[in-house]
Amino acid sequence: MKVLVIGSGGREHALVWKIKQSPRVSEIYCAPGNGGIADLARCVPIDVTDTAALVEFARQNRIDLTIVGPEASLTAGVVDEFENSGLAIFGPTSKAAILEGSKAFTKQFLTKYQIPTAAFKLFDDAKKAKKYVAKQGGPLVVKADGLAAGKGVIVAATVAEAQQAIDLIMNQKAFGDAGNQIIIEQCLTGEEASFIAFTDGKTVLPLPSSQDHKAVFDGDRGPNTGGMGAYSPAPVVTEEIEHYVMDHVMLPTIRGMAAEGRPYKGMLYAGLMIDQGRVNVLEFNCRFGDPEAQPLLMRLENDLIDIIEAVIAGRLNTVRLQIDPRPAICVVMASGGYPGAYQSGKRIKGLKKAAALAGVEVFHAGTKTVKGHVVTAGGRVLGVTALGETVIAAREKAYQAVSAIDWTGCQYRHDIGEKAMKHTKK
Ligand code: ATP
Repeated sequence: MKVLVIGSGGREHALVWKIKQSPRVSEIYCAPGNGGIADLARCVPIDVTDTAALVEFARQNRIDLTIVGPEASLTAGVVDEFENSGLAIFGPTSKAAILEGSKAFTKQFLTKYQIPTAAFKLFDDAKKAKKYVAKQGGPLVVKADGLAAGKGVIVAATVAEAQQAIDLIMNQKAFGDAGNQIIIEQCLTGEEASFIAFTDGKTVLPLPSSQDHKAVFDGDRGPNTGGMGAYSPAPVVTEEIEHYVMDHVMLPTIRGMAAEGRPYKGMLYAGLMIDQGRVNVLEFNCRFGDPEAQPLLMRLENDLIDIIEAVIAGRLNTVRLQIDPRPAICVVMASGGYPGAYQSGKRIKGLKKAAALAGVEVFHAGTKTVKGHVVTAGGRVLGVTALGETVIAAREKAYQAVSAIDWTGCQYRHDIGEKAMKHTKK
């Protein structure tokens, strides 16, 4: 079988790594891929939103199955185009991916189907929004409606900060048309977790829980990033909470989307805020999380192709997930300065030494190979991922691998997995 993976991040490297293990797969292509993916797959320089070129490539190269990594491809309608051309593809259609593409749609959907979420109000007029904020008082969360690469959400401690956020999104149009509408939301407290599942539109098959680390610095300080590390399982998601999320979030969402004429197939990712056992949905993503995919795919023992085929055929009820009981931790190594300005082209040392450690995989994100050397080519550069008998062991191994790798200006968090350890100690 010939498989095409769309994307170029650590998530896509982990997908390609996992697919490579399937005895059913003979060739893997990745569009556009990165320096690490190039060791496992043929990288083709096609943009993730160029749906026509992706369809043409799949046709010409007789691709049997395409797997979509990033949200930009989904909202651009790549799944619709492939399905219209009779090509097998894994992911939701653009009509279903609205769950990630429009926060306004999602908040109204959550309310309609009585799925727990923070109280909110929608605005398409900056003046009215500012008036509301002044009356309401801080803290509040201001969100651009559309996709903004994780930057369109501003947690504002005060009224002044919320009003600045409104200006940034609606008047300065920092995120373009994504900011035509905004959501002003009650600020929640608690611990965040990621609940990621396969679904064929009827059955929901959850992967183990996981937790991202969005802030750039230790102790959740500094600006938000695409994610600086992740671990699985997340002990904050107890068995009781898992049942609650399945019954009150995941299944009502799948049924609700079908009732709205937007049947949902693919990965469904609920971003949750959990406070003393109470769950609220912060957001939905319509794909694997990055970096959550890295530890999750290291723990998944099934052949991923079997699961994906069952999703596409609508027979996910016949699949049982097999999960490695060992926890996994991914530490993201990033370019100095990220998520702000950073330099690229720095030569990365120690990759082989790190990858040689048992139970460690070094997934590449922003890398490329120049004259035989791997160099940095993005903000998030590597996702160093390790399995261990315990969270502590997984963490030690991941950081042992991290310390073997170096480049000028490299930065990473030193506290990935600490929250899990705190729960275990309780
Ligand atoms: P992503 O990069 O994961 O796609 P996003 O841009 O879609 O993110 P959200 O996940 O909705 O945005 O919000 C980003 C972050 O902002 C959350 O992970 C959380 O830390 C914070 N946040 C969002 N909504 C709230 C809320 N109501 N109360 C407190 N914090 C919130």
